[in-house]
Amino acid sequence: MKLETACIHAVRDNSHVTGAVTVPIYQSATFAHPTFGESTGYDYSRSQNPTCEHAEKLIAALEGGAGASVHASGMAAIATLMELFAPGNEIIATDDLYGGSIRLFNQILKKNGIDVKYVDTSDLQLLESKITGATKAIFIETPTNPMMKVSDVMGIKKLIADRDILLIVDNTFLTPYFFNPIALGADIVVHSATKYLAGHNDTLAGFLVAKSAELAEKLQYLKKTTGSILSPFDAFLVTRGIKTLAIRMEKAQQNALIVAGWLKKQPKVKEVYYIGLPDNPAFELSKRQARGFGAMISFKVDNVETAHNILNRTELILYAESLGGVETLITYPATQTHADVPEAERRLRGIDEKLLRLSVGIEAVEDIINDLERAMR
Ligand code: PLP
Repeated sequence: MKLETACIHAVRDNSHVTGAVTVPIYQSATFAHPTFGESTGYDYSRSQNPTCEHAEKLIAALEGGAGASVHASGMAAIATLMELFAPGNEIIATDDLYGGSIRLFNQILKKNGIDVKYVDTSDLQLLESKITGATKAIFIETPTNPMMKVSDVMGIKKLIADRDILLIVDNTFLTPYFFNPIALGADIVVHSATKYLAGHNDTLAGFLVAKSAELAEKLQYLKKTTGSILSPFDAFLVTRGIKTLAIRMEKAQQNALIVAGWLKKQPKVKEVYYIGLPDNPAFELSKRQARGFGAMISFKVDNVETAHNILNRTELILYAESLGGVETLITYPATQTHADVPEAERRLRGIDEKLLRLSVGIEAVEDIINDLERAMR
């Protein structure tokens, strides 16, 4: 089955007597037992709920994992995942990550005795030199948020093949439509399903997908124990969003390629970071390991005033945090997504006041460009 078909048909709920085409929203906290010692398979919605289970089976099928767990947000998923680790463990993370992940790692994990080292994971030699006996996981985003650096998943897996180290990939930006990290050796895939998967800026959700059944079971156990679950209604929204993932990703990518090419020609734009541009350093690797480039673009303008003007003047494009919805959004990483990253660190990573991030939506591309052009004038 091709991926666009799988988004719609990979998992079916045939149990419903009405023949409902969509999975019902099982808005029930608890489930009655037929007789003593018997269960329908569902006991209490923190342990499992049929609507949530459907979403989990769907993402596991799309990512090629043995199982998945669905959570209240991307951060709830990542925080739950971190319960796999113990004091004294060390995690190596990409040095350019979503600011919320950095906040979790710096403020919560370190307090709990888990050390997080930030490394440019696109540099395999450097990464190898940082692995120690205490390293229990490598956590990467690829492409990274917001600088769009790409890491070689297969190359990293080769480095750790004979070691007890989990390879965790945040696949929020490319989604399983364009990229399947498990097929390249990742052990766990993370999603902020708030973004492309749900796709309409109307719900928050997160997924963890495990390569092995054993890991999937551990994640389910952590989900029910921490209670970081998603509501059945939101799980329904995520499943509904995934049905149109293929056409949304295709259209958004097509738009992004045109917008990135247009941005490159603008005198006030000094740098464009889009992995789909052939002169981007990550273009060849992206083509090798993924089926597409996605629709996230970062760009640097000539000065802070231009950046603020763009944020103030766009009308169609909304100045808002988040990404991956049908609407084109513009974000200012320095004061939004990466506000909690210490300033010196932020600047070192290239996230300054001249940097803007675009999540290109599925509107007519002419309208997106006209809006940017007017705002930049
Ligand atoms: N991972 C990435 C790459 C993100 O961009 C985000 C949010 O922007 C998250 C994780 C966190 O997801 P959520 O906002 O659903 O908690």
